[in-house]
Amino acid sequence: MRVGVQLPDGLKRKAIEICDKLEGDIILSGEHCFGACDIDLNLLKEVDIVYHFAHTKILDLEKVVYVPYFIDYNVEKICEILSNLKERRIALISTAQYCHKLTEIKEKLEAIGYSVELRKSRRTELPGQVLGCDYSAIKNSEAEAIVFVGDGIFHAKGAAIYSGKKVYALNPLNFELIEVDGADFLKERFLLISKCVGLKKLGIIVSSKPGQRRLKLAEEIQKKAKERGMKSLIVYFGDITPEKLENLPFEFYVNTACPRISYDDYRRFKIPIITPQEFDILLGLKKDLELDEI
Ligand code: SF4
Repeated sequence: MRVGVQLPDGLKRKAIEICDKLEGDIILSGEHCFGACDIDLNLLKEVDIVYHFAHTKILDLEKVVYVPYFIDYNVEKICEILSNLKERRIALISTAQYCHKLTEIKEKLEAIGYSVELRKSRRTELPGQVLGCDYSAIKNSEAEAIVFVGDGIFHAKGAAIYSGKKVYALNPLNFELIEVDGADFLKERFLLISKCVGLKKLGIIVSSKPGQRRLKLAEEIQKKAKERGMKSLIVYFGDITPEKLENLPFEFYVNTACPRISYDDYRRFKIPIITPQEFDILLGLKKDLELDEI
């Protein structure tokens, strides 16, 4: 049996030891693997099964098996830190690597009088898990504060903007607790939108990756652009890189692919990349910034 293996970039260095544990004739994907929707479709055609590591299932694709990669951490210590928060009603969120312990954290905090929301997002399987394209685990949350347990602050900032609530980011590896504010993120986004004012040549980015392919949305954007006298083309991509964009004739882009390209990676690109919601702000169709969700 031919077995395909997909690893995120952070795990690729462990490819030999991971593949040694598998049976069959292994073919390792050399492509980037940024998320659960980033399936190597070319590899999928060649093999009987693809093991997609470190992300949880968001798509029902034949022959693809998602293999989670959970990182262990000290729940007692997390609860001790959270028990010092003044907010007694909290919601817990995390990413695929850390959310396996959220239920245990919830039970321990509730035993000492906290009220803890732990809900599932639309696209994810595990309670409390959020994605860069889906924060619905905290939709209409009644918590006084959201606690993100994980590394980095990207998702915590996203949660702050999505919910409008106070958000703490607690790193389960070094136990650093910080309060995260979405204001600087909003400022950066509005600055980027302002850079697009008056520009007329628009590239509309569509991804070929399953789970982030939004061609219909791209067509709606193109219609709006045409009505405003802009020249636009829908451009189809696999991975979206600065080099690929530099060869194209556009003055700015609207990205319908993974929202993290607009929010997290945009500094790598010389040309402004905004979201469909931000394009509506640019056109004066809306005022308030909402996160782009798939
Ligand atoms: S669209 Fe982006 S954020 Fe959403 S699952 Fe795919 S890679 Fe992750």
